[in-house]
Amino acid sequence: MADPLRAPLDIEFDYTRSLGPVLSEFMTGLAGRRILAARGADGRVHAPPFEYDPVSSEPPGELTEAGPQGTVVSWSWMPEPLEGQPLARPFAWALIRLDGADTAMLHAVDAGSAAAMRTGLRVRPRWAASRVGSIRDIACFEPCDAPMSAAPEPGAEAGAVTGIITPVRLHYMHTASPGESFYLRGLAEHRLLGQRCGVCGQVYVPPRGTCPADGVPTHEEVELPETGTVTTFCIVNVGYPGQRVTPPYVAAAVLLDGADIAFQHLILGCEPGEVRMGLRVRAVWDDSGSISHFAPAGEPDAAYESYARCL
Ligand SMILES: [Zn+2]
Repeated sequence: MADPLRAPLDIEFDYTRSLGPVLSEFMTGLAGRRILAARGADGRVHAPPFEYDPVSSEPPGELTEAGPQGTVVSWSWMPEPLEGQPLARPFAWALIRLDGADTAMLHAVDAGSAAAMRTGLRVRPRWAASRVGSIRDIACFEPCDAPMSAAPEPGAEAGAVTGIITPVRLHYMHTASPGESFYLRGLAEHRLLGQRCGVCGQVYVPPRGTCPADGVPTHEEVELPETGTVTTFCIVNVGYPGQRVTPPYVAAAVLLDGADIAFQHLILGCEPGEVRMGLRVRAVWDDSGSISHFAPAGEPDAAYESYARCL
């Protein structure tokens, strides 16, 4: 059997969220170099502030200022920082209880070495030179006995911060399963390859390597035609950054002729309103040796009974 295929995969998107009244005020405070806190019904001061009191479930009253200095209550050393973390050199993740607060906040501490970190260490924020209303307006915390770094100007006059954009990125090496590798090698030759279960006779495409119904390995290889039937579909109306097809467009479950399980693909080449259950479609290949999308094949619709078992 050929070796499994491997390729690096990057999954990334910007997570955009509105902050709500409490966190908006907290983030706006950070832009002005103030760390805000909320007093709960039991008298405890929470920094960062809660959105709803853990005791009374009520939103907080007027926020107060905490810190900016604080005390490390727990920490963990990060010997090899990852891309995107607060510091590029080794640092500590720490729970820091700000002066005047009863709860701790998580942030990075630039202590220089693990030997310099300890529970009880007094720390102060090191403000970012440019502040926009983000937790990263605090570049990190640093020991209070460290020389003061060049202090950025206070009081950035950012307007009220009502939302944040958090980039999310996952980079990893994907190793395809033997069945998936078989399928992908077939795609590169414009062939659609599946596997048939020797017990129940079901044909799976892409092949799973095993039959989920019988739990046995699937060995028999089956080449399928590039025509199939839309079993179900949805019309995508929601846009997002990086979208390759302009909404509205159709994502559908396509049951290839001879297969017993449908797979997801785009249906293009017709108006979204023309797509229907039973629509006969044909694969359209792109230059990279993959299926770009499926398009109407111009055949009469498939009878419901011919695909009902796969709904
Ligand atoms: Zn089976």
